[in-house]
Amino acid sequence: MKFCSACGQSVGFLIPDGDHLPRYVCGSCKTIHYQNPRLIVGCVPEHEGKILLCRRAIEPRRGFWTIPAGFMENGESLQTAAARESMEEALARVDIGSICAIVHVLHAEQVHVVFRAKLLNLDFGAGPESLEVALFEESEIPWRDLAFRSVEFALQRYLDDRRAGRETLHFQDLDHPAKPKPRV
Ligand SMILES: [Zn+2]
Repeated sequence: MKFCSACGQSVGFLIPDGDHLPRYVCGSCKTIHYQNPRLIVGCVPEHEGKILLCRRAIEPRRGFWTIPAGFMENGESLQTAAARESMEEALARVDIGSICAIVHVLHAEQVHVVFRAKLLNLDFGAGPESLEVALFEESEIPWRDLAFRSVEFALQRYLDDRRAGRETLHFQDLDHPAKPKPRV
């Protein structure tokens, strides 16, 4: 950030009084511009045991497979956002169920929330952000061509739970493997 979105003057990067982290602070109007993790919401749509996946038409990870997911909008509930992303990316109508996974993607400054879902009909297809959309049996899931580790985690836990006949909530922290976690 270079300029204040409130007044257009330049901002500095400093620790405000009483704070403990550096923030972008406007030198003119003194507005503090906080930056916080963003929420990504998605679901694992299932139909008769098969899982709906989308092959990404956009970067990052163009050409790789993922579940329908995307940035939550202001004014949406988590469930509304998950259903909207299914419609946008897979033209798929879904019934959103329980939360399967919450993944903290520290290096991307994102939190991913993944729901279980039922596909309501087979009228799905590739939205503008997808190259193709398809249903996969568990044995057909393209594990080595998944776009993101958070998707791999959510799918693995989803399938583990399904085999065990339960619906539990799973947490995971992901960080760059090269970046060691600070000791606390
Ligand atoms: Zn300002």
